[in-house]
Amino acid sequence: MPADQPYWDMVESTAKELSARYGYRRIETPIFEATELFVRGVGEATDIVSKEMFTFPDRGGRSLTLRPEGTAPIVRAYFDAGMQLEPQPARLFYIGPYFRAERPQRGRYHEFHQFGVEAIGDASPLLDVEVILLGWQWFSAIGLDGLQLQLNSIGDEVCRPAYRERLREYYRPHLQELSAESRARFERNPLRLFDSKEPQDQALKRQAPHIVDHLCAPCADAFAEVQGALSEAQVPFTLNPELVRGLDYYTRTVFEYQHRDLGGAQNALGGGGRYDGLAAELGYKATPGIGFALGMDRTVMLLKEHRELQVTHPDVYALAVEGEATPHIFHIAGQLRQSGLKVVVDPTGLRLETKLRNAAKQGARVSVLIGPDERQRGEVVVRDMRSKTQVSVPEGELLGIVARTLDSA
Ligand code: AMP
Repeated sequence: MPADQPYWDMVESTAKELSARYGYRRIETPIFEATELFVRGVGEATDIVSKEMFTFPDRGGRSLTLRPEGTAPIVRAYFDAGMQLEPQPARLFYIGPYFRAERPQRGRYHEFHQFGVEAIGDASPLLDVEVILLGWQWFSAIGLDGLQLQLNSIGDEVCRPAYRERLREYYRPHLQELSAESRARFERNPLRLFDSKEPQDQALKRQAPHIVDHLCAPCADAFAEVQGALSEAQVPFTLNPELVRGLDYYTRTVFEYQHRDLGGAQNALGGGGRYDGLAAELGYKATPGIGFALGMDRTVMLLKEHRELQVTHPDVYALAVEGEATPHIFHIAGQLRQSGLKVVVDPTGLRLETKLRNAAKQGARVSVLIGPDERQRGEVVVRDMRSKTQVSVPEGELLGIVARTLDSA
Protein backbone atom coordinates (compact mmCIF):
# COMPACT_ATOMS: atom_id res chain seq x y z
CA MET A 1 0.00 0.00 0.00
CA PRO A 2 1.23 3.56 -0.65
CA ALA A 3 1.59 4.33 3.06
CA ASP A 4 3.92 1.32 3.42
CA GLN A 5 6.18 2.23 0.52
CA PRO A 6 8.44 4.67 2.39
CA TYR A 7 9.34 1.76 4.68
CA TRP A 8 9.97 -0.63 1.80
CA ASP A 9 12.06 1.99 -0.01
CA MET A 10 14.10 2.65 3.09
CA VAL A 11 14.78 -0.99 4.02
CA GLU A 12 15.68 -1.79 0.41
CA SER A 13 17.99 1.15 -0.13
CA THR A 14 19.67 0.45 3.20
CA ALA A 15 20.18 -3.18 2.14
CA LYS A 16 21.75 -2.08 -1.14
CA GLU A 17 24.04 0.50 0.43
CA LEU A 18 25.17 -1.75 3.25
CA SER A 19 25.79 -4.72 0.93
CA ALA A 20 27.88 -2.53 -1.35
CA ARG A 21 29.89 -1.32 1.62
CA TYR A 22 30.75 -4.95 2.41
CA GLY A 23 31.61 -5.75 -1.22
CA TYR A 24 28.47 -7.79 -1.98
CA ARG A 25 27.08 -7.58 -5.51
CA ARG A 26 23.43 -7.95 -6.40
CA ILE A 27 22.13 -11.14 -8.00
CA GLU A 28 18.53 -12.01 -8.91
CA THR A 29 17.51 -15.51 -9.93
CA PRO A 30 14.23 -16.49 -11.67
CA ILE A 31 10.98 -16.54 -9.70
CA PHE A 32 10.45 -20.21 -10.59
CA GLU A 33 12.87 -23.07 -11.03
CA ALA A 34 12.84 -26.82 -11.63
CA THR A 35 11.24 -28.45 -8.57
CA GLU A 36 14.20 -30.82 -8.36
CA LEU A 37 16.51 -27.96 -7.34
CA PHE A 38 14.60 -27.40 -4.10
CA VAL A 39 13.93 -31.07 -3.40
CA ARG A 40 17.66 -31.81 -3.61
CA GLY A 41 18.88 -28.57 -2.11
CA VAL A 42 16.46 -27.83 0.70
CA GLY A 43 15.76 -31.50 1.43
CA GLU A 44 12.80 -33.81 1.00
CA ALA A 45 12.11 -34.15 4.73
CA THR A 46 11.89 -30.39 5.41
CA ASP A 47 8.60 -28.59 5.99
CA ILE A 48 9.33 -26.40 3.00
CA VAL A 49 9.61 -29.25 0.52
CA SER A 50 7.14 -31.64 2.08
CA LYS A 51 4.28 -29.17 2.49
CA GLU A 52 5.00 -25.56 1.64
CA MET A 53 5.96 -25.34 -2.03
CA PHE A 54 3.77 -23.99 -4.83
CA THR A 55 4.53 -26.65 -7.43
CA PHE A 56 2.92 -27.05 -10.84
CA PRO A 57 3.58 -28.84 -14.13
CA ASP A 58 4.30 -26.79 -17.24
CA ARG A 59 2.92 -27.73 -20.66
CA GLY A 60 5.87 -29.99 -21.32
CA GLY A 61 5.12 -31.98 -18.19
CA ARG A 62 8.11 -30.60 -16.27
CA SER A 63 7.61 -29.83 -12.62
CA LEU A 64 8.20 -26.19 -11.68
CA THR A 65 8.19 -24.50 -8.27
CA LEU A 66 7.80 -20.89 -7.19
CA ARG A 67 11.04 -20.35 -5.28
CA PRO A 68 10.51 -20.89 -1.54
CA GLU A 69 14.03 -19.68 -0.66
CA GLY A 70 17.03 -18.09 -2.31
CA THR A 71 20.12 -20.10 -1.45
CA ALA A 72 19.73 -23.18 -3.66
CA PRO A 73 18.99 -21.05 -6.77
CA ILE A 74 21.97 -18.81 -6.06
CA VAL A 75 24.34 -21.74 -5.66
CA ARG A 76 23.00 -23.07 -8.98
CA ALA A 77 23.52 -19.65 -10.59
CA TYR A 78 27.03 -19.39 -9.11
CA PHE A 79 28.10 -22.52 -11.00
CA ASP A 80 26.06 -21.79 -14.14
CA ALA A 81 27.79 -18.42 -14.43
CA GLY A 82 31.26 -19.81 -13.68
CA MET A 83 31.68 -17.69 -10.54
CA GLN A 84 33.79 -20.47 -9.01
CA LEU A 85 36.56 -19.31 -11.37
CA GLU A 86 36.52 -15.76 -10.00
CA PRO A 87 38.31 -14.63 -6.82
CA GLN A 88 36.69 -16.40 -3.87
CA PRO A 89 34.49 -16.00 -1.99
CA ALA A 90 31.81 -14.69 -4.34
CA ARG A 91 29.85 -12.15 -2.31
CA LEU A 92 26.25 -11.80 -3.47
CA PHE A 93 23.04 -10.22 -2.21
CA TYR A 94 19.42 -10.37 -3.32
CA ILE A 95 16.09 -8.67 -2.66
CA GLY A 96 12.88 -10.19 -3.93
CA PRO A 97 9.68 -12.22 -3.49
CA TYR A 98 9.53 -15.80 -2.19
CA PHE A 99 6.58 -18.16 -1.94
CA ARG A 100 5.45 -20.66 0.66
CA ALA A 101 2.07 -22.35 1.06
CA GLU A 102 1.93 -21.92 4.82
CA ARG A 103 -1.22 -21.12 6.74
CA PRO A 104 -1.47 -17.34 6.33
CA GLN A 105 -1.51 -15.33 9.56
CA ARG A 106 0.08 -12.19 10.99
CA GLY A 107 3.66 -12.12 9.73
CA ARG A 108 3.23 -15.18 7.55
CA TYR A 109 2.20 -14.83 3.92
CA HIS A 110 2.06 -16.90 0.77
CA GLU A 111 4.18 -14.30 -0.98
CA PHE A 112 6.81 -12.61 1.15
CA HIS A 113 10.05 -10.74 0.57
CA GLN A 114 13.56 -11.38 1.66
CA PHE A 115 16.84 -9.51 1.70
CA GLY A 116 19.60 -12.07 1.71
CA VAL A 117 23.33 -12.43 1.22
CA GLU A 118 25.49 -15.39 0.27
CA ALA A 119 29.29 -15.67 0.50
CA ILE A 120 30.26 -18.72 -1.54
CA GLY A 121 33.63 -20.40 -1.98
CA ASP A 122 35.39 -20.08 1.36
CA ALA A 123 35.03 -21.91 4.68
CA SER A 124 36.62 -19.38 7.03
CA PRO A 125 34.59 -18.83 10.22
CA LEU A 126 35.47 -15.15 9.85
CA LEU A 127 33.17 -15.09 6.86
CA ASP A 128 30.35 -16.33 9.11
CA VAL A 129 31.06 -13.35 11.32
CA GLU A 130 31.07 -10.94 8.37
CA VAL A 131 27.65 -12.19 7.28
CA ILE A 132 26.17 -12.10 10.79
CA LEU A 133 27.52 -8.59 11.28
CA LEU A 134 26.08 -7.36 7.99
CA GLY A 135 22.61 -8.56 8.98
CA TRP A 136 22.97 -7.10 12.45
CA GLN A 137 23.97 -3.72 11.02
CA TRP A 138 21.06 -3.73 8.60
CA PHE A 139 18.60 -3.90 11.48
CA SER A 140 20.38 -1.10 13.30
CA ALA A 141 20.71 1.04 10.15
CA ILE A 142 16.97 0.87 9.49
CA GLY A 143 16.33 1.90 13.09
CA LEU A 144 14.96 -1.30 14.56
CA ASP A 145 16.18 -2.18 18.02
CA GLY A 146 15.13 -4.84 20.50
CA LEU A 147 16.79 -7.51 18.43
CA GLN A 148 18.36 -10.66 19.78
CA LEU A 149 20.95 -12.71 17.93
CA GLN A 150 20.79 -16.43 18.63
CA LEU A 151 23.65 -18.68 17.69
CA ASN A 152 24.34 -22.40 17.49
CA SER A 153 26.46 -24.93 15.65
CA ILE A 154 24.81 -28.01 14.20
CA GLY A 155 28.02 -29.80 13.23
CA ASP A 156 28.84 -31.35 9.89
CA GLU A 157 28.77 -34.69 8.07
CA VAL A 158 31.49 -35.96 10.42
CA CYS A 159 29.82 -35.36 13.80
CA ARG A 160 26.12 -34.95 12.99
CA PRO A 161 25.26 -38.55 12.00
CA ALA A 162 26.54 -39.89 15.32
CA TYR A 163 24.72 -37.15 17.22
CA ARG A 164 21.51 -37.82 15.30
CA GLU A 165 21.67 -41.45 16.48
CA ARG A 166 22.35 -40.35 20.02
CA LEU A 167 19.26 -38.14 19.86
CA ARG A 168 17.15 -41.01 18.52
CA GLU A 169 18.43 -43.27 21.31
CA TYR A 170 17.40 -40.66 23.83
CA TYR A 171 13.88 -40.32 22.41
CA ARG A 172 13.24 -43.95 21.42
CA PRO A 173 11.98 -45.17 24.84
CA HIS A 174 9.58 -42.18 24.99
CA LEU A 175 8.01 -42.27 21.53
CA GLN A 176 4.51 -42.85 22.90
CA GLU A 177 4.70 -39.64 24.96
CA LEU A 178 5.52 -37.48 21.94
CA SER A 179 3.09 -35.48 19.78
CA ALA A 180 2.25 -36.96 16.38
CA GLU A 181 4.31 -34.29 14.64
CA SER A 182 7.34 -35.03 16.80
CA ARG A 183 7.00 -38.76 16.18
CA ALA A 184 7.16 -38.06 12.45
CA ARG A 185 10.20 -35.84 12.98
CA PHE A 186 11.88 -38.59 14.99
CA GLU A 187 11.92 -40.68 11.81
CA ARG A 188 12.50 -38.05 9.15
CA ASN A 189 14.54 -35.28 10.70
CA PRO A 190 15.24 -35.78 14.43
CA LEU A 191 17.03 -32.43 14.89
CA ARG A 192 13.69 -30.77 14.20
CA LEU A 193 12.35 -32.27 17.45
CA PHE A 194 13.79 -29.10 18.98
CA ASP A 195 11.34 -26.98 16.96
CA SER A 196 8.31 -28.54 18.64
CA LYS A 197 6.01 -26.08 20.39
CA GLU A 198 3.67 -28.83 21.65
CA PRO A 199 3.34 -28.73 25.48
CA GLN A 200 3.60 -32.52 25.75
CA ASP A 201 7.05 -32.48 24.07
CA GLN A 202 8.64 -29.83 26.27
CA ALA A 203 9.81 -31.88 29.27
CA LEU A 204 11.63 -34.40 27.06
CA LYS A 205 13.10 -31.64 24.96
CA ARG A 206 14.64 -29.95 27.99
CA GLN A 207 16.67 -33.06 28.87
CA ALA A 208 17.66 -33.96 25.29
CA PRO A 209 21.35 -34.04 24.37
CA HIS A 210 22.57 -30.97 22.46
CA ILE A 211 24.70 -31.16 19.37
CA VAL A 212 27.06 -28.41 20.58
CA ASP A 213 28.23 -30.88 23.22
CA HIS A 214 29.04 -33.47 20.56
CA LEU A 215 30.87 -31.50 17.87
CA CYS A 216 33.99 -32.92 16.21
CA ALA A 217 37.18 -30.93 16.85
CA PRO A 218 37.15 -28.92 13.57
CA CYS A 219 33.50 -27.93 14.12
CA ALA A 220 34.16 -27.01 17.75
CA ASP A 221 37.19 -24.91 16.76
CA ALA A 222 35.22 -23.11 14.05
CA PHE A 223 32.40 -22.38 16.48
CA ALA A 224 34.83 -20.99 19.05
CA GLU A 225 36.37 -18.75 16.39
CA VAL A 226 32.93 -17.41 15.38
CA GLN A 227 32.08 -16.59 18.98
CA GLY A 228 35.44 -14.96 19.62
CA ALA A 229 35.21 -12.74 16.55
CA LEU A 230 31.60 -11.78 17.29
CA SER A 231 32.58 -10.73 20.79
CA GLU A 232 35.46 -8.72 19.41
CA ALA A 233 33.07 -7.03 16.98
CA GLN A 234 30.86 -6.27 20.01
CA VAL A 235 27.86 -8.06 18.60
CA PRO A 236 25.91 -9.46 21.55
CA PHE A 237 24.67 -13.00 20.99
CA THR A 238 22.88 -15.70 22.95
CA LEU A 239 23.88 -19.33 22.59
CA ASN A 240 20.79 -21.38 21.86
CA PRO A 241 21.61 -25.10 21.74
CA GLU A 242 18.06 -25.80 20.53
CA LEU A 243 18.36 -23.66 17.40
CA VAL A 244 18.44 -26.07 14.44
CA ARG A 245 16.71 -24.16 11.56
CA GLY A 246 14.38 -25.87 9.15
CA LEU A 247 16.55 -26.50 6.14
CA ASP A 248 18.67 -29.61 5.58
CA TYR A 249 21.58 -27.90 3.94
CA TYR A 250 22.95 -26.14 7.00
CA THR A 251 26.25 -27.19 8.58
CA ARG A 252 28.14 -25.72 11.51
CA THR A 253 27.11 -22.10 12.26
CA VAL A 254 23.38 -21.37 12.33
CA PHE A 255 21.85 -18.14 13.62
CA GLU A 256 18.61 -16.26 13.91
CA TYR A 257 17.69 -12.64 14.49
CA GLN A 258 14.67 -12.60 16.77
CA HIS A 259 12.51 -9.78 18.02
CA ARG A 260 10.70 -9.67 21.34
CA ASP A 261 7.62 -7.98 19.84
CA LEU A 262 6.90 -10.76 17.36
CA GLY A 263 6.38 -13.49 19.93
CA GLY A 264 5.13 -16.99 19.37
CA ALA A 265 6.31 -19.24 16.59
CA GLN A 266 6.92 -16.28 14.27
CA ASN A 267 9.48 -14.45 16.36
CA ALA A 268 12.28 -14.74 13.82
CA LEU A 269 12.97 -11.78 11.58
CA GLY A 270 15.59 -13.71 9.72
CA GLY A 271 18.23 -16.34 9.95
CA GLY A 272 20.93 -18.16 8.18
CA GLY A 273 23.92 -20.38 8.44
CA ARG A 274 26.75 -22.18 6.75
CA TYR A 275 25.92 -24.68 4.02
CA ASP A 276 29.14 -26.45 3.12
CA GLY A 277 27.32 -29.52 1.80
CA LEU A 278 24.78 -27.81 -0.46
CA ALA A 279 26.79 -27.53 -3.68
CA ALA A 280 27.65 -31.25 -3.66
CA GLU A 281 24.01 -32.05 -2.84
CA LEU A 282 23.04 -30.23 -6.04
CA GLY A 283 25.58 -32.19 -8.06
CA TYR A 284 28.33 -29.57 -8.22
CA LYS A 285 31.88 -29.62 -6.86
CA ALA A 286 31.84 -29.45 -3.05
CA THR A 287 32.01 -25.72 -2.22
CA PRO A 288 31.46 -24.05 1.17
CA GLY A 289 29.07 -21.16 1.64
CA ILE A 290 27.38 -19.01 4.27
CA GLY A 291 24.40 -16.69 4.08
CA PHE A 292 21.28 -15.26 5.63
CA ALA A 293 17.74 -14.41 4.58
CA LEU A 294 15.91 -11.62 6.38
CA GLY A 295 12.15 -11.29 6.18
CA MET A 296 11.25 -7.83 4.94
CA ASP A 297 7.49 -8.08 5.53
CA ARG A 298 7.90 -8.80 9.23
CA THR A 299 10.60 -6.17 9.49
CA VAL A 300 8.40 -3.51 7.88
CA MET A 301 5.48 -4.58 10.09
CA LEU A 302 7.58 -3.95 13.22
CA LEU A 303 9.22 -0.84 11.87
CA LYS A 304 5.82 0.78 11.38
CA GLU A 305 5.21 0.42 15.11
CA HIS A 306 8.61 1.90 15.97
CA ARG A 307 9.20 4.69 13.47
CA GLU A 308 7.10 7.12 11.52
CA LEU A 309 7.99 7.63 7.88
CA GLN A 310 5.91 9.91 5.70
CA VAL A 311 4.74 9.27 2.18
CA THR A 312 6.13 11.94 -0.09
CA HIS A 313 3.82 14.89 -0.52
CA PRO A 314 3.46 17.03 -3.62
CA ASP A 315 5.31 20.34 -3.42
CA VAL A 316 2.74 22.08 -5.56
CA TYR A 317 -0.93 21.54 -6.27
CA ALA A 318 -1.83 23.24 -9.55
CA LEU A 319 -5.43 24.07 -10.23
CA ALA A 320 -7.55 26.13 -12.51
CA VAL A 321 -10.29 28.19 -10.95
CA GLU A 322 -12.46 27.61 -13.96
CA GLY A 323 -12.53 24.83 -16.54
CA GLU A 324 -11.42 26.99 -19.45
CA ALA A 325 -7.97 27.67 -18.02
CA THR A 326 -7.21 23.98 -17.50
CA PRO A 327 -5.01 23.34 -20.55
CA HIS A 328 -2.73 26.16 -19.47
CA ILE A 329 -2.36 24.66 -16.00
CA PHE A 330 -0.62 21.65 -17.60
CA HIS A 331 1.88 24.00 -19.19
CA ILE A 332 2.61 25.66 -15.86
CA ALA A 333 2.86 22.32 -14.06
CA GLY A 334 5.32 21.14 -16.71
CA GLN A 335 7.60 24.13 -16.07
CA LEU A 336 7.54 23.50 -12.33
CA ARG A 337 8.29 19.79 -12.78
CA GLN A 338 11.23 20.64 -14.99
CA SER A 339 12.75 22.51 -12.13
CA GLY A 340 12.50 19.30 -10.07
CA LEU A 341 9.32 19.96 -8.10
CA LYS A 342 6.61 17.39 -7.46
CA VAL A 343 3.44 18.80 -8.94
CA VAL A 344 -0.09 17.41 -8.89
CA VAL A 345 -2.57 18.90 -11.35
CA ASP A 346 -6.21 19.04 -10.40
CA PRO A 347 -8.17 18.45 -13.63
CA THR A 348 -11.58 18.23 -11.98
CA GLY A 349 -14.56 20.54 -12.31
CA LEU A 350 -14.97 20.72 -8.53
CA ARG A 351 -15.55 23.97 -6.63
CA LEU A 352 -12.53 26.04 -5.68
CA GLU A 353 -12.92 25.40 -1.94
CA THR A 354 -13.06 21.65 -2.55
CA LYS A 355 -9.96 21.77 -4.70
CA LEU A 356 -8.06 23.70 -2.03
CA ARG A 357 -9.22 21.28 0.63
CA ASN A 358 -7.95 18.37 -1.47
CA ALA A 359 -4.63 20.16 -1.93
CA ALA A 360 -4.31 20.45 1.86
CA LYS A 361 -5.32 16.82 2.40
CA GLN A 362 -2.58 15.66 0.04
CA GLY A 363 -0.05 17.70 1.97
CA ALA A 364 0.85 20.18 -0.77
CA ARG A 365 2.75 23.14 0.64
CA VAL A 366 1.94 25.48 -2.20
CA SER A 367 -1.02 25.80 -4.55
CA VAL A 368 -0.82 27.53 -7.88
CA LEU A 369 -4.12 28.85 -9.21
CA ILE A 370 -5.19 30.39 -12.49
CA GLY A 371 -8.56 31.89 -13.19
CA PRO A 372 -9.80 33.80 -16.24
CA ASP A 373 -8.58 37.17 -14.85
CA GLU A 374 -5.07 35.92 -14.17
CA ARG A 375 -4.98 34.27 -17.57
CA GLN A 376 -5.81 37.58 -19.21
CA ARG A 377 -3.13 39.47 -17.27
CA GLY A 378 -0.53 36.73 -17.75
CA GLU A 379 -0.40 36.13 -14.02
CA VAL A 380 -0.79 33.25 -11.61
CA VAL A 381 -1.77 33.09 -7.95
CA VAL A 382 0.69 31.42 -5.57
CA ARG A 383 -0.91 30.34 -2.32
CA ASP A 384 1.04 29.36 0.78
CA MET A 385 -1.05 26.49 2.11
CA ARG A 386 0.21 26.87 5.66
CA SER A 387 -0.32 30.59 6.21
CA LYS A 388 -3.30 30.57 3.82
CA THR A 389 -2.01 33.77 2.20
CA GLN A 390 -1.62 34.30 -1.50
CA VAL A 391 -0.04 36.65 -4.04
CA SER A 392 -0.66 37.28 -7.71
CA VAL A 393 2.57 37.29 -9.74
CA PRO A 394 3.54 37.52 -13.41
CA GLU A 395 3.98 34.04 -14.88
CA GLY A 396 7.66 34.71 -15.56
CA GLU A 397 8.31 35.06 -11.83
CA LEU A 398 6.43 31.91 -10.87
CA LEU A 399 9.44 29.62 -10.33
CA GLY A 400 11.20 32.07 -8.04
CA ILE A 401 8.12 32.81 -5.94
CA VAL A 402 7.20 29.13 -5.58
CA ALA A 403 10.76 28.28 -4.54
CA ARG A 404 10.74 31.07 -1.95
CA THR A 405 7.34 30.04 -0.61
CA LEU A 406 8.48 26.40 -0.32
CA ASP A 407 11.61 27.52 1.55
CA SER A 408 9.59 29.49 4.06
CA ALA A 409 6.80 26.92 4.42
P1 AMP B 1 13.75 -18.89 6.90
O1 AMP B 1 15.00 -18.97 6.11
O2 AMP B 1 12.71 -19.85 6.55
O3 AMP B 1 14.03 -18.86 8.38
O4 AMP B 1 13.15 -17.46 6.56
C1 AMP B 1 13.87 -16.29 6.88
C2 AMP B 1 12.92 -15.19 7.24
O5 AMP B 1 12.02 -14.95 6.16
C3 AMP B 1 12.01 -15.49 8.41
O6 AMP B 1 12.65 -15.22 9.62
C4 AMP B 1 10.85 -14.57 8.16
O7 AMP B 1 11.12 -13.24 8.60
C5 AMP B 1 10.76 -14.57 6.66
N1 AMP B 1 9.71 -15.51 6.24
C6 AMP B 1 9.81 -16.84 6.03
N2 AMP B 1 8.63 -17.36 5.66
C7 AMP B 1 7.75 -16.33 5.63
C8 AMP B 1 6.35 -16.20 5.32
N3 AMP B 1 5.61 -17.24 4.93
N4 AMP B 1 5.78 -14.96 5.43
C9 AMP B 1 6.51 -13.89 5.83
N5 AMP B 1 7.82 -13.96 6.12
C10 AMP B 1 8.43 -15.16 6.03
